[in-house]
Amino acid sequence: MMERIYLDHAAATPLDRRVLEAMMPYLTNQYGNPSSLHYFGQQARAAVQQARQQLAHCLGVASGDVVFTSGGTEADNLAIRGYLRANYPQGGHLITSAVEHQAVLNTFRALEREGYALTILPVDCDGRVSPETLRQAIRPDTVLISIMYANNETGTIQPVQELGAIARERGIAFHVDAVQAFGYLPVHPIEDGVDLLTVCSHKIYGPKGIGALYIRKGLQLASEAYGGPQEHRLRAGTENVAGIVGFGMAAALLEKERPERIQKVRIVKDLVYHGLIEGNDLLHLNGNLSQSLPNIIDFSVDGMESPVLLIALDRQGIAVSAGSACEAGAVEPSHVLMAMGVGEKWLRSSIRMSFGPENTTEEIYTVIQAIQDITRSLRKGERL
Ligand SMILES: *Cc1c(COP(=O)(O)O)cnc(C)c1O
Repeated sequence: MMERIYLDHAAATPLDRRVLEAMMPYLTNQYGNPSSLHYFGQQARAAVQQARQQLAHCLGVASGDVVFTSGGTEADNLAIRGYLRANYPQGGHLITSAVEHQAVLNTFRALEREGYALTILPVDCDGRVSPETLRQAIRPDTVLISIMYANNETGTIQPVQELGAIARERGIAFHVDAVQAFGYLPVHPIEDGVDLLTVCSHKIYGPKGIGALYIRKGLQLASEAYGGPQEHRLRAGTENVAGIVGFGMAAALLEKERPERIQKVRIVKDLVYHGLIEGNDLLHLNGNLSQSLPNIIDFSVDGMESPVLLIALDRQGIAVSAGSACEAGAVEPSHVLMAMGVGEKWLRSSIRMSFGPENTTEEIYTVIQAIQDITRSLRKGERL
């Protein structure tokens, strides 16, 4: 059997064994519904509450200000649509950035079709939104700003605190998608001046199908779905108890182990940069090294469309992503790289590697070798 190397943690991380162990009772004999008043229900309710506290503690917020959803996408939708439906149902001006995840961008595009005005902020060549650009885009009728904490393709980190200060100064609600940042940055919405913040579980070694939204106390939201009173009446439907318990455990482990994880992935990322990209004129780094997450690197390979390279690497047991996972398969250039003004030559040939603390330097040497072999054949004009 081929030893496979997994470098796509920004799409999904493995499930931590300890997380699975915490979930097991709720997939087996602890099957109660948290809304039930009997013993089984109350056991499940207590487990959900404990997980909420674990996640809230990791975010530095009160557990009453955290609502569980089915994932990052639903939390983004709840933040944006839920805030507008409760506060500005008749319209207003919205601001987001050109490099957001589809969960945010497509939500805003739908709202624009419904009659809201929308400004999509440009980014610089590293993928950053400048605070000055945000300041200039604000209008008297601006009601909501949404900017991601760190980008899922390039790892670029936004100046969230500065952007948050501008939003606060103008009294405009500020939503941040922190799904990617959560695993590798101390994400603290209160200190960061953030009103609404999205996180999700399967990017931090938890299970898929569970996410959460932090909602600043006092902020009114409207539920997206009609139904029962679960999750402070903001997310109707029986809770995904095992998923929630897993997310809580994943957050508790993250809080303890984040510094160690950062150290490990940083070594691996530096190795890819210094051992492969730096000084290689066939390769081009997308974004910059210093203002990006320690676990994501994105680069383009001259003369090679992303899916071709992705498949060539996959045949050797190396799993990477072409731009964002949701766009894999389509040779459409990434909207993130286009917004950064990446040159035509590099636009359709981007590869994202996203690491986890379980990746070893031996694995990375194998990957570097594989890509060097491929670029060497390219240089000689060979077909793969
Ligand atoms: C993965 C991701 C999402 C979507 O989360 P799901 O749980 O898959 O719905 C949203 N935003 C960013 C930045 C992501 O990386």
